[in-house]
Amino acid sequence: MTVVLGLTGGIGSGKSTVGAMLVELGAVLVDADAIVHELQAPGAPMLKELAEAFGEDILLDDGSLDRKALAARVFGDDEARVRLGRIVHPPTIAEMARRLAAAREARVPVVVLDIPLLLEGRKSGTGSGSQFPFDAVVVAWVPEALQLERAGERDAASREEVLARIRAQLPIDEKRAMADYVIDNSGTLDETRRQVEALWAELIREGAAAP
Ligand code: ADP
Repeated sequence: MTVVLGLTGGIGSGKSTVGAMLVELGAVLVDADAIVHELQAPGAPMLKELAEAFGEDILLDDGSLDRKALAARVFGDDEARVRLGRIVHPPTIAEMARRLAAAREARVPVVVLDIPLLLEGRKSGTGSGSQFPFDAVVVAWVPEALQLERAGERDAASREEVLARIRAQLPIDEKRAMADYVIDNSGTLDETRRQVEALWAELIREGAAAP
């Protein structure tokens, strides 16, 4: 049986790091953000729909999506945000489901669905987080102070910028409480890898035991 994991975390908590380690062990990663980017590539039907809904101003000169302009266009406008979700979510969820089905077909032992706002979506019943039947939710966790430090360094962003992005999400400790498995990524990468390997071994046992 294929075990389906939902992987999430907070900004800079190590979601990408943990996802990459699971892939090294043999998981297939289905990355919601990457799929959205693919579906919004120049020439894609979704990009045309977005331009029709929000105006040509959301396109850059080369015809690609101006993400900053789109974000500014829907910021503080609930109606526009709902319209955006109606354009983006259904094809994204369909594509994720297609990849999940292909992985099951190929008897991949573990599929990791990387959904940034998985638990936010689950809490409110919106977004792609509520669409998939996960066998378990994994949260990559670090204390908030370390989120600030690592995300700030990675993105060369100020403390205030990172803090504003952290405040826009559920607190990492709240996500931790909702997880089936927590990977404590506050130590070295080796310490994280050992936890991911232990998780992998457990998932493989579970998958083998399931009908
Ligand atoms: P997320 O995907 O949750 O935003 P990342 O996996 O990108 O987080 O990690 C944030 C930053 O911290 C990256 O620059 C990454 O290389 C670094 N990082 C992640 N885990 C560790 C760790 N255990 N020790 C040191 N640096 C880490």
